[in-house]
Amino acid sequence: MLQSMSRVAVTGGAGLLGAPLCERLLSMGREVVCIDNLSTGTRARIAPLLDHPRFTLVCHDITRPLALEADAIYHLACPASPVQYQRDPVGTGRTCAQGTLTMLDLARRLQAPLLLASSSEVYGDPATQPQAEDDWGRVNPVGPRACYDEGKRFAEAMCFDYQRQYGVAVKVARIFNTYGPGMQPDDGRVVASLIGQALRGVPLTVHGDGRQTRSFCYVDDMVAGLVQLMATGPEVTGPLNLGRPEEVSVVELAERVRAITGSHSPIRHTPLPEDDPIRRRPDIGRARALLAWAPEVDLDTGLRRTAAHFRAILEAGE
Ligand code: NAD
Repeated sequence: MLQSMSRVAVTGGAGLLGAPLCERLLSMGREVVCIDNLSTGTRARIAPLLDHPRFTLVCHDITRPLALEADAIYHLACPASPVQYQRDPVGTGRTCAQGTLTMLDLARRLQAPLLLASSSEVYGDPATQPQAEDDWGRVNPVGPRACYDEGKRFAEAMCFDYQRQYGVAVKVARIFNTYGPGMQPDDGRVVASLIGQALRGVPLTVHGDGRQTRSFCYVDDMVAGLVQLMATGPEVTGPLNLGRPEEVSVVELAERVRAITGSHSPIRHTPLPEDDPIRRRPDIGRARALLAWAPEVDLDTGLRRTAAHFRAILEAGE
C-alpha cells in the first residue's frame, strides 16, 4: 500500500505529532498536504517545511467541508492537552465528531485509507492493567474531560461504521502520552509543565500526591509507529495501542526532570483535576506482533532532548 501513496494529507500537521510526521513523510518522498487551523498548532513548528516544494499548508478548520486530492489521510487534528481541549470543550467535541466525519467523507470519496489518531483516554479509568485493546473503557460521559474522551470514542465508532457501511480502509491508533521537543513550555501537558518550571526555577506542580502513573513515549517513536501502521494492508484496522509500556508516577517524573535539568525547585502539590486517570500503561503486544514496532528512546534520553529544546526557547526569550 505504501508505494502507491504519493500524496498524503495530514490533519493537525502543525501539532506536536503532526509536524514531525509531515517531516518524516517528506523525507520518504511523499507530497504532503498539511491541513490545520493553527488553534493549538503553530506556524513556527512547520516553518522549516514551508519552503519545501512537496509541502503545502492549507489553513482550514476540519469541522467545515473540505475538498482536496490525496492517496492517504492521517487524521490527527484535535487539541491533545487537557488544558487546551477544556478551554473550548464544545469546539473539541465538534472537532472530534464533525471533523472526523469530514475526513471520513473525504476518505470515502477518494477511496483512500484514513488513520485516526485516537487516544488512551478512550479507556477512561480502566478496570485492567496494562490496558489492552479489548478493554472497552470506563469513561465518565458527563465530566469535563468527556468532550475529548467521548469525542475520541465517537470518532473510533464512526471509523468502523464507515468501514462496515462504505468499505473505507481505516486504521485506528490509540496513542498514549507522547512528548518531545516540539512542545511549548505553557501547553499544559505534564512533561512540558515540569521541564518549563524546572528551567525557570519555580516550583514543580504535581497534581494530588503524584502517585498516579503515566507512560511516556518519545515523539519520534510515535511517528514511526503511525507510519508503520499506515503501511499495513487493509486487514490491519486496529484499534492498536501505541505507547511506551514503562509506567512512571508523576512524582517520579518530576524527580527525573529535576535531576536532568539540575534544578533545585521544590515540588508543589495541587488538587487532582476531576476524572484524572489513576494509571496508564499500554499493552503493546498487538503493535509488536502486527508492526514489529516498539519504542526505542528511553525516558531520560527523551527528557534530555526535550529539556535542551526548552532551554533554547527560554534563552531566546520566545
Ligand atoms: P496538538 O494539540 O499539538 O496538535 C493538534 C493539531 O490539530 C494542532 O496543530 C491544531 O491546530 C490542529 N487542530 C485542532 N483542531 C482543529 C480543527 N478543528 N481543524 C484543523 N486543525 C485543527 O496535539 P498532538 O499532541 O500533536 O496530538 C495529535 C493527535 O494525537 C490528536 O488527535 C490527539 O488527540 C492525539 N493524541 C495525542 C497524544 C499526545 O500525548 N500527544 C496522546 C493521545 C492522543
